[in-house]
Amino acid sequence: MKIIDMHCDTLLECYRKKKPLRNGPYQINLEKLKSGGCLAQCFAIFVVSHDTADRCGVKETPYGFYREMVDLYQREITANPDLISPALCAGDIESNRSKGRMSSLLTVEDAVAVDGRIERIDEFFSHGVRMMSLTWNYENSIGYPNSPDPVLHGRKLKPFGVEAVERMNALGMIVDVSHLTEGGFDDVALLSRRPFVASHSCARALGSHQRNLTDRQLKVLGEKGGIVGINFCAQFLEDHAVLSSIDTIVRHMIYIRDKAGIEALAWGSDLDGIDGSVLEYGDYAGFPRILHALSRHFTEDELERINHGNFLRVFRENAG
Ligand SMILES: [Zn+2]
Repeated sequence: MKIIDMHCDTLLECYRKKKPLRNGPYQINLEKLKSGGCLAQCFAIFVVSHDTADRCGVKETPYGFYREMVDLYQREITANPDLISPALCAGDIESNRSKGRMSSLLTVEDAVAVDGRIERIDEFFSHGVRMMSLTWNYENSIGYPNSPDPVLHGRKLKPFGVEAVERMNALGMIVDVSHLTEGGFDDVALLSRRPFVASHSCARALGSHQRNLTDRQLKVLGEKGGIVGINFCAQFLEDHAVLSSIDTIVRHMIYIRDKAGIEALAWGSDLDGIDGSVLEYGDYAGFPRILHALSRHFTEDELERINHGNFLRVFRENAG
């Protein structure tokens, strides 16, 4: 039990396929987590909206959908107490581990369901949400999505976004800048009193996708005590790639260690959210193969930080 993965979209797959989280046909399920070496898994509620909601056949508002997904998460986790328990603070991960259980963290991808109401952030926190990405690929009440257009990518947080970051800091909910504009990223770097994360992004120098972080962003993130979770999406790892290869994952990790520092490295697989990618390691259960390849380039101590130490520090400095 050692890996903490900051992002997966398994809950949405669970919603769509209606099979159990324990052993359903997903890249991540509870049995695969166990055999792959999971210490804790962040389960994102990807809040569908706009045409994504249409594609998923969701008729509810983003907030209504969010509430339904909270119920689904709680149902699936409480049905499997032999394997996993929720973690609301860093200490919970340790106490779950001592009982032989993995930990689950509830997170939100796209703060669209906040919809300009600050009290919703408190409400999400009371449901157990401990990390939230400010945007996904659409504008929302907080800010704007990343873009290949440099002018659009430079857009800042909205005034409500500033308020939202302050509220998340006050509560102890980790601010996630994956999917955000670079202008928004800079606002968070200035504003946030606690370390923030890019939960599932890679290095722009190795993969030119605008979801990846530039050298400057990596440096800032490292200086602020933040972390970046390596995304396993083939197109993020390498331009035009279809294969999510172990080699390219290792290459990004080495690069980010050199730019942002070892204390900024973590996992953000994005499994169950990257259907266009062919996974060399199969699924989450293949994690040991990635760790084996990584061990040729990183020391034991470095691996421990990447696998869980860095996330535990950020979690503790946010939620206690
Ligand atoms: Zn994402």
